[in-house]
Amino acid sequence: MHADLPTDLERLRDVETYLSLQLDRALQQHARPGAHEELPPDRGRLEPVGRFLRTQLGRVRQQIHEVTTGDPGWLTDPATGWYMQHLPAGGEGGRGRGVLHRDGCWITEGTELDRDAAVLALIGVRDAVDPCEICLPERELLPPE
Ligand SMILES: [Zn+2]
Repeated sequence: MHADLPTDLERLRDVETYLSLQLDRALQQHARPGAHEELPPDRGRLEPVGRFLRTQLGRVRQQIHEVTTGDPGWLTDPATGWYMQHLPAGGEGGRGRGVLHRDGCWITEGTELDRDAAVLALIGVRDAVDPCEICLPERELLPPE
């Protein structure tokens, strides 16, 4: 459960609808820069907006799943692939960081990895790679602590 999101299904659907509409507008802007004046016309500046909206939409849909099913583990099939999403550095001249996702996640962008590469990414350079908070790829890759 996400403490910042409602637990009432009707209110969750309201948020989902709003975010979906905003994401649609961002995608339209990407296809036709200038289509929506409230969004940056530059694709480089538009990208973080789209990424933020997709992430938020994923969290809302996860919450909807948990509220309607009582099941926090919405990804129950074994993962067959993993993806490394690359996030740019946020100031201080850092190197950026990676976020590891499994297949089936709402976020499907990034470099495809096999299981060994995904495990290495998590344990080898753990300071620069975070497991996704939505799809929890580490559940299948690392032994329980
Ligand atoms: Zn993910």
